[in-house]
Amino acid sequence: MPSVVAYHRPTSLDEAFEFLSNPQCWALAGGTVVVPNARKNRATGIAVVDLQALDLGHITTDSHRMELGAMVRLSDLCDNDQVPAVVREAARRELPSVLRNQATIGGTIAQAEPDSVLVAALLVHDTRISLHQSETVYLGDYLASERKGLIVSANIATRGQGEVAVTGRTPADTPIVAAVARSDTNGVQLALSGVAPTPVIVDPNDPTAGLNPPGDFRGTAEYRIHLAEVLSERALGGVR
Ligand SMILES: Cc1cc2nc3c(=O)[nH]c(=O)nc-3n(C[C@H](O)[C@H](O)[C@H](O)COP(=O)(O)OP(=O)(O)OC[C@H]3O[C@@H](n4cnc5c(N)ncnc54)[C@H](O)[C@@H]3O)c2cc1C
Repeated sequence: MPSVVAYHRPTSLDEAFEFLSNPQCWALAGGTVVVPNARKNRATGIAVVDLQALDLGHITTDSHRMELGAMVRLSDLCDNDQVPAVVREAARRELPSVLRNQATIGGTIAQAEPDSVLVAALLVHDTRISLHQSETVYLGDYLASERKGLIVSANIATRGQGEVAVTGRTPADTPIVAAVARSDTNGVQLALSGVAPTPVIVDPNDPTAGLNPPGDFRGTAEYRIHLAEVLSERALGGVR
């Protein structure tokens, strides 16, 4: 049995949306998650809906917000000096350079790995997600939902000052816990990765309230809470 049983390359959002209404069909963006998963699903195989002909690679800006098409690559974020510095740094920390050339912002958001520094950075940048044939949602609400639908773009705030603080096993390794802070005229926002099933917005005055992180070989729950406290203080120190 081949691992990919059907390949679709729609040229319109409606057509892509129609294919994706079949639960056996996976959206294929950069493929850094989908391709390894296809191999794991050899017993049944998966059908893929390649998003690359949908023209979702745009980056547009206005005075204080920026729209990123779902197929914008993480390397494009790193290379664009109009992207807030903290988002650029988070994209750089997310994956090694070869995978940054493949992975997209839409795939990263839909996947929302617990230790995604980029998703934490997007959370503090007041990110709103456009889903095809659906209302725009705040990223935090999207992450708390079943994460269904076709992501068309992410709209982020560009003003303010940001700071990232991380701890990993080595400087190049995926951080065990990361804290991302941002301040603007509306106040201070803080998000953490590595402490919950997805990155989360937390209260800057009590960052670890209600957190119950799972432990693994990289750090126990207690260690992660300790890191969250220390890193939150460092990140907040950079924006206050
Ligand atoms: C070696 C390796 C290391 C990794 N390390 C990290 C890490 O350190 N931190 C981290 O956070 N992640 C990591 N990942 C996971 C992964 O690379 C990221 O989540 C990646 O950014 C996903 O983007 P993609 O474009 O490749 O998504 P894809 O693999 O194409 O898709 C990922 C998921 O998103 C869905 N999807 C894609 N685009 C859309 C869309 N527009 N609308 C709706 N759904 C969509 C897909 O159907 C799939 O379920 C790693 C992966 C690999 C292979």
